Amino acid sequence: MDLLLDTDCVVAGCVPEAAPDADSLAALSRCAQLHATPWLYAGAAQAYEDGVHRALQEAADEGAAALAGADLPRLARQRLQTFTQGKQWLAALAGDCASFDSADPARERLLHALGRFTPGTIKVLTGDAAFLAACPDQAVSPAQYLALPPSAQRVDFIDLPSQQSFIRPELEERVHRVLHHGRYILGPEMDELEQALQSYTGAAHCITVASGTEALLISLMALGVGPGDEVITTPFTFVATAEVICLVGARPVFVDVEPETCNIDASKIEGAITPRTKAIMPVSLYGQPADMDEINAIAHAYQLRVIEDACQSFGASYRGRRSCNLSTIGCTSFFPSKPLGCYGDGGAIFTNRDDLAEIMRELRVHGQERRYVHTRIGVGGRMDTLQCAVLLAKWPRFEWEVERRMAIAQRYSDLFAGAARIKTPVIRADRTCVFAQYTLQVSGRDALVETLQSRGVPSAVHYPIPLNNQPAYEDIGCPECTPVAARLAASVISLPMHADLRESDQDLIASAVIAATGH
Ligand SMILES: *Cc1c(COP(=O)(O)O)cnc(C)c1O
Repeated sequence: MDLLLDTDCVVAGCVPEAAPDADSLAALSRCAQLHATPWLYAGAAQAYEDGVHRALQEAADEGAAALAGADLPRLARQRLQTFTQGKQWLAALAGDCASFDSADPARERLLHALGRFTPGTIKVLTGDAAFLAACPDQAVSPAQYLALPPSAQRVDFIDLPSQQSFIRPELEERVHRVLHHGRYILGPEMDELEQALQSYTGAAHCITVASGTEALLISLMALGVGPGDEVITTPFTFVATAEVICLVGARPVFVDVEPETCNIDASKIEGAITPRTKAIMPVSLYGQPADMDEINAIAHAYQLRVIEDACQSFGASYRGRRSCNLSTIGCTSFFPSKPLGCYGDGGAIFTNRDDLAEIMRELRVHGQERRYVHTRIGVGGRMDTLQCAVLLAKWPRFEWEVERRMAIAQRYSDLFAGAARIKTPVIRADRTCVFAQYTLQVSGRDALVETLQSRGVPSAVHYPIPLNNQPAYEDIGCPECTPVAARLAASVISLPMHADLRESDQDLIASAVIAATGH
């Protein structure tokens, strides 16, 4: 349970010289120990400052030697500066200030702000007897808090709240700026984001779009893939990869994957090429690029185009180049759980070809060349400005996060070294993986999933059914043609992975896996 600190608790934390309030201090350190978040309310900043100043003044008046002759207002601000480090500021929003005619407007504001949290996940920590009596569900005294049994520590598969806690000020500023300028579609944040992503990948063009799926769809449309055409891809991927091929009226041709990387087996692609083949769509699964140079060479020999489905691999590199900038077109997704995720749907397309970029920019806005002049059949496929703002807030931390993900993956693999029934991910020496998923191959996978679940360790299966074995793809599927994909579907399991995963949680996850696989 998180805590929202009332002024008296902030004062206790800042002024140890004042009448000692051992419970308040103990409550604050317990909150930290339990990895719960101590929140401060931005609307109470002045009250905090006044309270700390007043307490310092009283302590000085009572003869606290260290305070004699000190600049107390300045000292109050310094103490607050130190105290607020590592704590979260809860924004004061317009709605908090709706009532000045209540008996206690300050408390009303605090309670209103508290209403933004899921009930039961946070309480106001206060020593104010009247507050505690009036709001027993929303307030807790330090003594009551210390008496609460610790809630079971939860391990998250992906921890977006921790990430948010590191970027909150920038995030809120960026979102509010959009609310004020009001250019919700094709706003300035979109241009800023496209610039940042473009220079990061080194591609000549970045076109943000409504989702990763939309990115793939627009790419196929731009390449003129349509009825009668075939597109070579992998059956061991998220369904969107094949779905968009069908949506443009073409046919996905599934080529089996490599057992180690789970990516399309480049040596089997040539055998699947027919006169109808228009493009190859490899997927950089789990965040590791496929054998792009080999694939590009085949495409070159047969005059095909290559669309990298980089929805899981933004940030990865391959022979010194970035994923998304490895072929004719690269597509990524900003779905919230992806390595770079926004708070809704979003995606981007990358290319070095000016002609394709122009077509794709038009396709994204209903094939519009200029206002209300439609030269192509397009889609409503823009990424909205608010989502671009969210990504811009996350952007400064992204490189650090990628490095963390790689280090965490390496640590997992070290922890599993020597466990005979566990195959850890194989990353080729000439490329990196951003670990959209950290995925093991194990025998007895389904039993492992259940055992982990019973021990409170979340896991996921990416993916349990190859696309050529899915009901919707029955008429084009040939599951027995891709035996490696079939075998992987029965043996892969993904473990919790995010940049803020604690070592202690990782140890717990790894030992649960090792115990359950019988070592
Ligand atoms: C997530 C994902 C997509 C689809 O992205 P959305 O943004 O959810 O539309 C496509 N392909 C792969 C491999 C993915 O992982």
